[in-house]
Amino acid sequence: MTDFTGLTALVTGGASGIGRATAELLAARGAQVAVLDLDPSGVEKPLRGYVADVTDDTAVRAAVAAAVADLGGLDILVNNAGIGAQGTVEDNDDDRWHAVLDVNVLGVVRTTRAALPHLRASAHAAIVNTCSIAATAGLPQRALYSASKGAVLSLTLAMAADHVRDGVRVNCVNPGTVDTPWVGRLLDAAPDPAAERAALAARQPTGRLVTADEVAGAIAYLASPLSGATTGTALAVDGGMQGL
Ligand code: NAD
Repeated sequence: MTDFTGLTALVTGGASGIGRATAELLAARGAQVAVLDLDPSGVEKPLRGYVADVTDDTAVRAAVAAAVADLGGLDILVNNAGIGAQGTVEDNDDDRWHAVLDVNVLGVVRTTRAALPHLRASAHAAIVNTCSIAATAGLPQRALYSASKGAVLSLTLAMAADHVRDGVRVNCVNPGTVDTPWVGRLLDAAPDPAAERAALAARQPTGRLVTADEVAGAIAYLASPLSGATTGTALAVDGGMQGL
């Protein structure tokens, strides 16, 4: 794994799960790392926490500006904040569609807009978006969530094309089922969480869930100079789910 010494990073949704694992990995490898989250109070040094809701453009701009000022620049943006949604197109009304797209899609747009002027000034600029296998897998009961991540995948490709000549690479990871607090909350809502967890693991080709650290490793690769010629790609981190 590459050394991030001298590089700076901002991770949205970095207070939990995949974002937290990514922020900690980048920091452990030498990066100065800022976390933007609804509640970054649990984030510990050397990570720096900034409060913002990615649905609030003014708050995002203020948090990005504060983070960049404190870090002394920005080389890496990880657009990871996201929320889930279950059900078919009939199960979610317009308000729910707007709410989920506001976080999962426009959230990426807002942080990217705020960060791009700073990324353009970097010699190692990279954006990594946390997408999902839901973007392309055609999963049942995930119409809204899949549409939101499909948009993130398309945005990744479009942004890569738009900013390649600015020296800003844009890629995404497509995680499968990852053992994070989010998935834990879903399992806890089942009548028998332990049985549900075992059944979920058994449905994975590897017989286990993907770990947040494994997704963080893929994000770190796409954020690092090791992937310097790679832009506009989606890297599956799904324990083989995509091949089924
Ligand atoms: P998580 O719930 O553990 O962490 C998500 C973080 O995002 C939390 O800290 C939360 O506070 C923050 N967040 C949510 N809404 C926000 C908002 N409006 N503004 C700022 N921060 C906000 O979830 P996770 O499982 O680590 O998921 C992280 C990303 O990975 C999401 O984009 C999710 O869609 C994606 N993903 C997760 C899985 C999985 O199985 N866990 C699979 C594929 C993709």
